[in-house]
Amino acid sequence: MRHEDYKQLLALEAVGALESDERGALHGHLPSCAECREELRELTDAASALVYTVAPVVPPPALREHILERVRAAGLAEAPVDPSEALDRSGALGGSRRAAASGGGRTPAVAPEPRSVLRGFSLWQLLAGRPALGFGAAAAAIAVLLLGATTLSLWGRNQALSAEVSRLYDRLRATEGELAGQREQLASARDVSDLLAAPGVRVAELTGKQPAPGARATLAYDHSTGRALVMATGLPPCPAGHAYQLWLIADKKPLPGGTFKADAEGRARLSDRLPQGFSAPAFAVTLEREGGVPAPQGDVYLLGSAS
Ligand SMILES: [Zn+2]
Repeated sequence: MRHEDYKQLLALEAVGALESDERGALHGHLPSCAECREELRELTDAASALVYTVAPVVPPPALREHILERVRAAGLAEAPVDPSEALDRSGALGGSRRAAASGGGRTPAVAPEPRSVLRGFSLWQLLAGRPALGFGAAAAAIAVLLLGATTLSLWGRNQALSAEVSRLYDRLRATEGELAGQREQLASARDVSDLLAAPGVRVAELTGKQPAPGARATLAYDHSTGRALVMATGLPPCPAGHAYQLWLIADKKPLPGGTFKADAEGRARLSDRLPQGFSAPAFAVTLEREGGVPAPQGDVYLLGSAS
């Protein structure tokens, strides 16, 4: 026999269905063929696992009938065979009556050799056909395998969905951040346009003093409401614990305004409410303690008066 012939015997050997001569031949081949040894080991493991998986149960009648039909169709007659008929078909003996009288059974020439039929069945079918296992064992084993495959598939889908949800959540967060930034810009642009459209608004140009000679600021101030807006450039970053503070100077007296910080490029912006009613005040920006102070103490960084 060739390697391919031995391979056909492996499934039968795994379920103990080989006859002694074939088993002997197979075991003569195994020591010299690693592939057959490995496949036999796998099949035997699978068969053993099935034996211990579930207790045998009675198959549903319809399933049993279906399997038996297939077996009959394959020549493994389940129904009793009339020996005389078998002998007539064989034609091996002249007198059928004589053969019948002698009580001869099926001859190998008539019924297909059982194991050649068995070879046409898969391991699953063979296991299902073993009386000790029953149909239920094989069916349950297949159900367990399907359940395992379904679980794996669901787990995979769950992983994919989790990743998708997390990705969408990140995008939502980013979009929310962008929206908040745009809303803030829009609000401040509206502030500027509202302020500049007010009838009594005055604009002051503030110039840099000794600590930051290159600094500049434009200040819009509505004396009737006290609303003020400062846009500055060229300011150095504030030291830790400090902030720039705006002052309205009227009658040589500084009145405190809000505090602000410059960004990395030296730009700063402040929307503020200052004391109202002063039509031509001067403005200053000093560096003070963070949070602001009631009277200026630090260096003056910007100074100018309303036009
Ligand atoms: Zn082999």
